[in-house]
Amino acid sequence: MKDIDNLFKESDLGIVILSELGDVISANAIFKQWLGTDEPLTSTKLMQSFKTLEIHIKKLKSASDLKHLKCNLELHRIGLARPLEIQGLLIANKQEGSNVSYGLICWPNDDVKLTTTESPSSKLNELILNIPTGIITLNKEWECDFINPEFSILTEKSDNELYGKGWLGLFKNESGQLAKLINDATKYGVSRTELTLNSIGKPTKTLEFKFKARLSDNGLFESGFGALIDISDRVIHEAKIYKLANYDSITNLPNRRATQENLSKYLQNAVQTNQSLQLLYINLDGFRGINDLYGHQIGDKILQGVSERIINLTRSSDVVSRFGGDEFIILVPGNATDDDVDELAEAIIAEINTPFYFDELQLHISASIGIAKFKPDLQKTNFPENYVQLMVKDLIQRADLTVYCAKQAGKNQYIRFSNDKTQKVTELYHILQKLPSAIENNLFTMMYQPIIDAQTGKLTAVEALIRWYDKDTQWIAPDQFIPIAETHGKILSVQQCMINKVCQDISTTLNHFAMSENHIRITINLSPVQLADPKGLLIFLSNIQRRGIKPNQITLEITEHMLVEETPALIKCLTNLESQGFTIALDDFGTGYSSLSYLATVPMSTIKLDKSFVDTIETSASQKALVKGVIFLAKSLKLKVVAEGVENKAQMDILTELGCDYIQGYLIAKPMKPEALIKWLENKDG
Ligand code: C2E
Ligand code: CA
Repeated sequence: MKDIDNLFKESDLGIVILSELGDVISANAIFKQWLGTDEPLTSTKLMQSFKTLEIHIKKLKSASDLKHLKCNLELHRIGLARPLEIQGLLIANKQEGSNVSYGLICWPNDDVKLTTTESPSSKLNELILNIPTGIITLNKEWECDFINPEFSILTEKSDNELYGKGWLGLFKNESGQLAKLINDATKYGVSRTELTLNSIGKPTKTLEFKFKARLSDNGLFESGFGALIDISDRVIHEAKIYKLANYDSITNLPNRRATQENLSKYLQNAVQTNQSLQLLYINLDGFRGINDLYGHQIGDKILQGVSERIINLTRSSDVVSRFGGDEFIILVPGNATDDDVDELAEAIIAEINTPFYFDELQLHISASIGIAKFKPDLQKTNFPENYVQLMVKDLIQRADLTVYCAKQAGKNQYIRFSNDKTQKVTELYHILQKLPSAIENNLFTMMYQPIIDAQTGKLTAVEALIRWYDKDTQWIAPDQFIPIAETHGKILSVQQCMINKVCQDISTTLNHFAMSENHIRITINLSPVQLADPKGLLIFLSNIQRRGIKPNQITLEITEHMLVEETPALIKCLTNLESQGFTIALDDFGTGYSSLSYLATVPMSTIKLDKSFVDTIETSASQKALVKGVIFLAKSLKLKVVAEGVENKAQMDILTELGCDYIQGYLIAKPMKPEALIKWLENKDG
């Protein structure tokens, strides 16, 4: 027995005894040495080191007449250049009445000495074999000399396929990536890449491969260490986030953000290749009405239908996207001719005109289109750094203004932007170009138009009307730039410039005629954009008060259009303003909203009868009757009436006779600069 014990201990054969359940009962020293452990050997470690051992045991177990089995094993262990081929004899100890046990006697296939010198501590060994990161080490020749089990699991390749140069053929489709990885590692010492693995019947796997190289003093590659992890979940998640951030969920088209990025890429390419690029800006007509009338579900279906129709008409090289609520953009790259693009615009308009059907419902819709073109400037050789960004903005702006003009011209049509100065769109384009600097330098001036008491002729208020002095075009009227400022996010700044000037005029020139004491108000025109943001409006007005101007000196003019969305927040805001002492007047009365119910619900003290009512009052009996009715209605609601645009005495007399309270118009005076207003007042009173 002692001899057997000695043999067990001192033999240079590896010997291990296992229980029926695979637990290690004992292992001789050489066996433990091979596996790189001094500690008691666990079954897990044994099975990790000899991956196929379990299969052999099962085979032996299931064959009742078999007492032993020859087996070829591979020993996996950190520190080994590659898995070592081991031959073994697996013996079953099947004694009657007792449990089966197994013995494995084994020896290396070749003469490799399995010393422990290069074996790391057992803890590290354990870690490397179990860590959920694939690990690979490479020798000087870029040959794989070690991989841990996770590496072959992740790559779905056997050790034989991976050892040596084999690993390089791993990702056939990613040879470029691997070449770059190697190149970067040799250059910088570290590198990283992502590899995709497509196995038949399995989802695509993305693996992140980080690599570190050990370089010699003269920069030559000596050895390398790679770590591989599965980042498929992260990649899928990122792709979802990308889709959410860049695609519109209703139409599945690229959204505004992606459009701008695409446009930037396409423009870059157009600049580099000297090609033109055209942009069609499509805006649906009356879409908001459909949404309000039939609900968002129908609205969404229309948007989907429109996007399908547009896509069907475009070429595969064109890029269609949804730029905003009811706005689509098509990029037509590659030197397309103007005729081709115009034809596309015509076809889109015709196609959108075809009714949409939803069960019994038949809906008609139309679209306005603005076309702008980027033409490479062949003379230009020096481009500013932000040239492409400037062009992106410019192209969108030109197309957008052109749509605006198409709408103004009656909708359901396309217009192409041109540099022809006589075109409205060119004028608007220049206005929009110059507006930021006009705002920055406050190039606005305020003119004041008197409003007098119809009975006494006394001055009761002056309406502040903005003008923009531009050195090229001289005076620009508000009708020209206010709507553009409103649709292009500039109106709040314009209003701020306006109020600054008004405050300045009050504190300097205008106070000359003691406005407060004489109860003369200044009326200012608010923008719908301000009314849509009651909080912002309150801040805007509190600034006036900080400059010493009292609310009871100010009348705020709002228009009927602003009341279409008569929200509780708006009513609350206007009530609050009235209680502070501001008066509210309804401007351009009779030109906008047809419902009169808001006259009773929206806090206001005055209505301003639009000039169109006044124009024919002295010649048209029906017009006179209409004005009489309006004044009667206003009186019954305890509202004051201002008549706007009064140009002759006959008009004024009729309006006074009908009970109109105040008169404003060229008959009294045109809008004037503050100094002229003072003179006018002095002459009047004098
Ligand atoms: P509005 O509020 O209806 O202003 C009255 C317009 O009628 C003024 O034109 C005024 O000069 C003009 N007007 C007054 N009496 C007569 C008349 O007897 N005959 C004729 N033919 N016209 C008369 P203006 O100053 O060109 O302003 C046009 C519009 O621009 C204003 O219409 C208002 O909607 C807007 N606006 C003017 N200033 C501002 C401002 O500071 N802010 C905002 N948001 N809009 C402004
Ligand atoms: Ca007004």
